[in-house]
Amino acid sequence: MGYDVHPLREGRALIIGGVRIEHPTGLDGQSDADVLTHAVIDSVLGAAGLGDIGAHFPPDDARYRGASSLDLLAEATRVVATAGYRVVNVDSTVVAQAPRLGPHLGEMTRNIARGLGLDLNRRARRRPHRRSVKGSPRNLGARLSNPLRSLRRRSSDFVGIKT
Ligand SMILES: [Zn+2]
Repeated sequence: MGYDVHPLREGRALIIGGVRIEHPTGLDGQSDADVLTHAVIDSVLGAAGLGDIGAHFPPDDARYRGASSLDLLAEATRVVATAGYRVVNVDSTVVAQAPRLGPHLGEMTRNIARGLGLDLNRRARRRPHRRSVKGSPRNLGARLSNPLRSLRRRSSDFVGIKT
């Protein structure tokens, strides 16, 4: 499970799921402070038993100043793959009163899927995330494949993620 929170500040770009969103304030942090991508990174590493995001990408490390969190996600995916795991499922929720996230969900999902090395086109036929976000601009569903419970039975090679 991944969880992340960043403060909103004036003068910062608001980037969620790798999408820059027009807004009076943005998330503050050492990197681009992409709260959704950070939660996914944290859950990927945690599900594989490889620690948390802070251990791999220390928040006070100058190398990550202004870094794209999607690049960090790609790096975390490599770390997880090296340990013998691959990601098969992500289910995420962004909690925010504003702005509306609905128009950006598709791009966010594609960005996260690319960072995780997931074949979104193949999985998107199921379109499960559409239902999970219907009617609520505050929720971001990024469910990309089969439910975790069925994967657990099938193989220990899989890592299921709930963010
Ligand atoms: Zn963060």
